[in-house]
Amino acid sequence: MLCGFCEGTGRCPGCATHIDGLAKVKMEIEAGYLTLAESTIQVHLQKVNEREAKERTFDKAVAVGGLALAGAALFSGLGLVAGALGGGLVSENKNAKPIQHLQVRRADLFFCLGLVYTLQQRHSEAKQAWIKALTMCDTHQPTIKVLKELG
Ligand SMILES: [Zn+2]
Repeated sequence: MLCGFCEGTGRCPGCATHIDGLAKVKMEIEAGYLTLAESTIQVHLQKVNEREAKERTFDKAVAVGGLALAGAALFSGLGLVAGALGGGLVSENKNAKPIQHLQVRRADLFFCLGLVYTLQQRHSEAKQAWIKALTMCDTHQPTIKVLKELG
């Protein structure tokens, strides 16, 4: 579940941005700027989507590159085409699953969204946000805790 780049220590740019985002949301919630906090959460959810697209493109480039090389050895010029096609198929299968460490980031953000909704007295939306957080990461401790307290 941890980030494959920095193992969750926050040293990679993606995790650093995420942690900065959470800190900003926390500050805004504490200051009572709930609408601002909500939009910060939306901005960071969008960043996670962009990150996911980028990581998938990276996977695809590696898959296409690897297969094209193997294909080139076998079929010479034709192999590059066959390899590229094969790579596309491989990464499409991979696309079926969300990227796990990014799901954890989404869970963090939906957890925060639930807090904002609670403070705005939007209780049923808060519960929906937390349930969504759990579907993204079923071991997300802060979410498990608040849902348990809600009963
Ligand atoms: Zn990281």
